[in-house]
Amino acid sequence: SYRKGGYHAVRIGDPFSGGRYIAQRKLGWGQFSTVWLAYDTLSSSYVALKIQKSAQQFAQAALHEIEFLSAAADGDLQNTKCVVRLIDHFKHAGPNGQHLCMVLEFLGDSLLRLIRYNRYKGLKLDKVREICRCVLTGLDYLHRELGMIHSDLKPENILLCSTIDPCKDPVRSGLTPLLEKPEGNANGGGGSSTMNLIEKKLKRRAKRAVAKISERRVSMVGGEEASSKTEKSLDGIDMRCKVVDFGNACWADKQFAEEIQTRQYRAPEVILQSGYSFSVDMWSFGCTAFELVTGDMLFAPKEGNGYGEDEDHLAIMMELLGKMPRKIAIGGARSKDYFDRHGDLKRIRRLKYWPLDRLLVDKYKLPEAEAKEFAEFLSPILEFAPEKRPTAQQCLKHPWSMDECSKYTEQCR
Ligand code: ADP
Ligand code: MG
Repeated sequence: SYRKGGYHAVRIGDPFSGGRYIAQRKLGWGQFSTVWLAYDTLSSSYVALKIQKSAQQFAQAALHEIEFLSAAADGDLQNTKCVVRLIDHFKHAGPNGQHLCMVLEFLGDSLLRLIRYNRYKGLKLDKVREICRCVLTGLDYLHRELGMIHSDLKPENILLCSTIDPCKDPVRSGLTPLLEKPEGNANGGGGSSTMNLIEKKLKRRAKRAVAKISERRVSMVGGEEASSKTEKSLDGIDMRCKVVDFGNACWADKQFAEEIQTRQYRAPEVILQSGYSFSVDMWSFGCTAFELVTGDMLFAPKEGNGYGEDEDHLAIMMELLGKMPRKIAIGGARSKDYFDRHGDLKRIRRLKYWPLDRLLVDKYKLPEAEAKEFAEFLSPILEFAPEKRPTAQQCLKHPWSMDECSKYTEQCR
């Protein structure tokens, strides 16, 4: 993909936007972009630099994302609404073409990494509660204040707020390469004075941090090497997080695509093409909350002998949530592909019903009371009828998602 129209190759120390941003290390990548930790010389802070592939359709997608991120930033001047902040954007010319770049506030690991780090065992309910409150705050803002549907909510697109200064933790921040190859990053801008200064400062800080490394808490980044200390190490970690990746967002009154969302987090009305609204994000939120608690995806449909992935998806939904009301089942443009006129699946006839509260106890060994409370919170969100699903605002007021403090203030009202 590193060819004309594709990704832009970045080397540590490369300057961007006239030298304002200096690339530090790669943070991640998506289908359309690579994302880099960069140092912002203007604000003396770290940022995430998302560099889009250069071909026309990717530039178009970046402009789309910038439109939605800008709207989200404009309506949240205090930056408290749990949505990633767009700081700046610009074009960068490279050997593969012109790349649109987005400068975003620097965040930490995704919830997917958190789940992996915890070895797919699921997180403690208090942690999940904290995460859910942030995600719901973000969704409530997007939906109610902006009229925006995210359309691709999933653990990968929710990032923990990084409370760790990347300068202070070399493993987490990737400053180790700077130590290993002290000269390796001086080539970008021909050694501008700003750059040299920053490099020196970074190296000094990184050295100091390395001296401290032995006392360091288990770093989240060592995902693959998660040890028996895992549970303990999550204890001190603040679970605040933010919603990212607005590449698929749309306005509720101006939709672009019929097929939205990542497969496992896709709402039934999207599969059946019966029209959708904000409540598709609530469905994905429900799937995500379950995954945080159990470490397993709620729905992982597979194509089978004589039936496709969509039909399997509908079948496993009904095995958990009961039979889909006939009116809903036959009401979509694609309904005839999967359902007969009685509202039964055409190719998958025998369903094994295993309701949510039982599943949580029997398979995931949650204590009865916790399972019951969580199932009571989650079940209405996984309602087949989209208009019956609670809004993000309503979920925030549900006793399950409230912390002790807000429960108390509610009672006092
Ligand atoms: P794409 O639209 O190409 O999927 P994303 O916006 O999802 O791109 O970003 C790709 C990856 O880059 C994310 O999964 C995450 O690992 C990392 N990333 C994105 N934004 C940030 C950020 N603000 N801070 C830290 N890492 C980020
Ligand atoms: Mg993504």
